[in-house]
Amino acid sequence: MLGVDRATVIESIDFDEEADSVVVHVRPRRSKMRRCGLCGRLSPGYDQGQGRRNWRAMDLGVLLCHLQADAPRVNCPEHGPTVAQVPWARHGAGHTRDFDDQVAWLVTHTSKSAVGELLRVAWRTVGSIITRVVDDARAAHDPFDGLRRIGIDEISYRRGHKYLTVVVDHDTGRLVWAAVGRDKVTLEKFFDLLGEERSGLVKLVSADAAEWIATVVGERCPNATLCADAFHMVSWATKALDDVRREIWREAKKMGAPTLIARIKGCRYALLKNPEHLTDKQQTGLARVAQVNKTLYRAYLLKEQFRLVFQLRGKAAIRALDDWCDWARRCRIPGFVDLYYRIVRHRESIVATLTNDGLSNALVESTNTKLRLLTRVAYGFRSTDNLIALCLLDRGGYCPPLPGRQVAA
Ligand SMILES: [Zn+2]
Repeated sequence: MLGVDRATVIESIDFDEEADSVVVHVRPRRSKMRRCGLCGRLSPGYDQGQGRRNWRAMDLGVLLCHLQADAPRVNCPEHGPTVAQVPWARHGAGHTRDFDDQVAWLVTHTSKSAVGELLRVAWRTVGSIITRVVDDARAAHDPFDGLRRIGIDEISYRRGHKYLTVVVDHDTGRLVWAAVGRDKVTLEKFFDLLGEERSGLVKLVSADAAEWIATVVGERCPNATLCADAFHMVSWATKALDDVRREIWREAKKMGAPTLIARIKGCRYALLKNPEHLTDKQQTGLARVAQVNKTLYRAYLLKEQFRLVFQLRGKAAIRALDDWCDWARRCRIPGFVDLYYRIVRHRESIVATLTNDGLSNALVESTNTKLRLLTRVAYGFRSTDNLIALCLLDRGGYCPPLPGRQVAA
């Protein structure tokens, strides 16, 4: 019921009426005593620490449950005086290992409020718990092993004032690293951790066209080709189209053109959506745009043709890109002429994307969307370390199995 293994000796069981909790008095088996809480090394005793301590364990039916034990300190030759290791909990934790794992599992499978109510824990506590779970898992396995093709992206959090730089592995689809900041110094930290040898094994890096990413990748990954993320390129075209729409809308209001206003109004989503996802009503709306404003409709077609470039591969894709450039250069829509120059500047990395098979645009897009969502879920956590832990837990493959289910398929 308690989920503790043979390393734990159960001495007695009480019921604390005031706290409405079952209290189980435990101690580590002799062979597991006097080990450093940080490194597990057998060490001489130091003192009794803060005396007896409680660890919250998984509920027993409707009741809370706590394990209670002495928490003496040992004098580790490497870490100095440190609270001794206990087999039922992670170092520094106020909850048992099983409780931690249960929290981590639930956080990735259900809503924020459900976790809090079901487990009777504050959201801040959840943040500390998942950080421990992820740190533990990352210490056990090298998170950077076998990286060959990676994607680098930036995600805004806290209403766009702050950014995370994130690195995904294109081969496993997993998030491998994240840190606060979006600049050279931040990204250099990743390559410092990766080390020179493993950086040399990276064959391909995909990213949006940010200058700082290109600079660092150029310096640190001598054997890598830099590719432009199709997802980011297409979002440039979508942005250009939206600017055109807004400009025409402003003009129409200034001139007082009610028909034009009525037709453009409400067509924003129809314009920006992929045509295969349009409803009948939105299709009709688009057809009207074609009638009332040729410029806006041409901008729409430019966006669509640009998007199609990235659905092709190899020579056909490069030909489509060149056709698009020809058209955009002469289109006389300032936003798209600007986009044309921007695309020309990044042609090399776009061509690399179009000719590299299996670079998953869907992966970058879905990771980006999911991470944005997680930044909102993390609201209320104590620190950005907790936010990063949440991202890694959910997207990095660090979610533990539910306690007691490790063996079951
Ligand atoms: Zn130690």
